[in-house]
Amino acid sequence: MAAFSPELTVIYATIRTLDDQHPQATAVLVGGGRVLAVGSREEMAALAPRAHVLDHRDLILTPGLAEAHIHLVAYGFSLAELNLHGARSVSEVQARVAQRTMNTPPGTWLRGGGFLLSELGLDEYPAAAVLDEVSPHHPVLLFSRDLHLGWANSLALRLAGIRPDTPDPVGGRIVRPLGTLLESASELVTRVMPVPSEADFLAAAKAGVEDLAGRGYVSAHTMAFEEPEAPRALQTLAARGDLPLRIWACLPHERLEQARELGLACSPGSLFQWGGVKFFADGALGSRTAWLHGPGFAGGSGTGMPLDSPDLIRERGAEALRLGLTPVTHAIGDRANTEVLEVYEALRPLADEKGIRLRIEHAQHLRPEDIPRFRGLTASVQPIHLQADGPMIRELLPHRVDTSYAFRSLKAAGAVLAFGSDAPVAPPEYRANFAAALTRRDDEGQPIAPAEALTEEEILWAHTRGPALAAGWEDEGIIRPGARAAFTLWDRIGGNARALVL
Ligand SMILES: [Zn+2]
Repeated sequence: MAAFSPELTVIYATIRTLDDQHPQATAVLVGGGRVLAVGSREEMAALAPRAHVLDHRDLILTPGLAEAHIHLVAYGFSLAELNLHGARSVSEVQARVAQRTMNTPPGTWLRGGGFLLSELGLDEYPAAAVLDEVSPHHPVLLFSRDLHLGWANSLALRLAGIRPDTPDPVGGRIVRPLGTLLESASELVTRVMPVPSEADFLAAAKAGVEDLAGRGYVSAHTMAFEEPEAPRALQTLAARGDLPLRIWACLPHERLEQARELGLACSPGSLFQWGGVKFFADGALGSRTAWLHGPGFAGGSGTGMPLDSPDLIRERGAEALRLGLTPVTHAIGDRANTEVLEVYEALRPLADEKGIRLRIEHAQHLRPEDIPRFRGLTASVQPIHLQADGPMIRELLPHRVDTSYAFRSLKAAGAVLAFGSDAPVAPPEYRANFAAALTRRDDEGQPIAPAEALTEEEILWAHTRGPALAAGWEDEGIIRPGARAAFTLWDRIGGNARALVL
């Protein structure tokens, strides 16, 4: 074999390839953004004696970390918003809001998020009056960590024209006394907020992707549930050569028509790709809008809120498949999962014909009899949510503790596990995903279904190869000839990480 030319790079490291044929190596040869060969240092030196050498012999090299569920531009915006993660009481929320008002001109909107009702010690939906106490002159809208609940003050409600007798919008609920807005009801407020400019979107997109790349990620699946300007900003970064990540993006199903008209031209080699069409089968556990089978929430607060109907998902899902796009459906409650699995059963022949893997987001609380039906599907799950959800699961769904976040069972059933964080719902912290999936411990230190724990190797796979397969990227999440030269370097797996993209 002829020796390769000199603009090549050899990386020395302890290499975990995730390729069953050659799981371990000590050197990898890279050129033109691709892996050319994998083996020992001597073998690579013989192949490319004049290659540039990156010596990371003290580190572990794996396929690059992927984030399989993020709202990338919303995450970028959130980095500049009022951050309520970790707030443990209503007075702590008040203090953080009060602080922000001091540095903000009156009349300017305050937007924030990251709280959980359970962590604030609230059994009831919060009222506007609590925020009015600390922010009478700034309109305020705060989102719960799961983004399914908005908490507004009176000024924000007044600007949105919401009064005690305003009817609930389709797909949402205005809680009385006023203050809490569930699901689509939050949009009554967001639509009167100042619209971010194109430059704002670009800045947020850049902040989001740079933050992720800085954490060691090389790719991300960005979900819909963002303004159309969000993916456009990512596309602009890609066109400028300013995108440090490879991106697989979802369209909201409402825009499928447009997609068909425009065609989804994907320039070959571009780091940005349209891949999925997003549906929502239900809401979320913390906001009591997850769609459940009977007996429902233990508190007697009902069986949740179905959103996109199964018929709609079936019809538009088929349309998505015909366009070569992956149906991607949010399903948290056990009923939502049953219904989506039913729909996917009907879509499976078309999906198989198109070579597309159907995909469920969250798959959080399952009936045992539904788990085998995940065979061949992508289960896009977020172990980090288990940490905050544990106490809520015990309280609200005691009959589903053993089949919540059922990673091992899903894997055994033949699902492809793809790990993400759902940022800005939770921070994009792979460390927390490793910890949650290994130990199954929640924020109170209690285990949730410990038999569902995964090994470190399995978690690494679900953060690299799993997302790649979910996106249909055979050339990613594995180190073998032809693969994208996008790696993560570790001091130990799950420890400190750094991206290395050549
Ligand atoms: Zn999400």
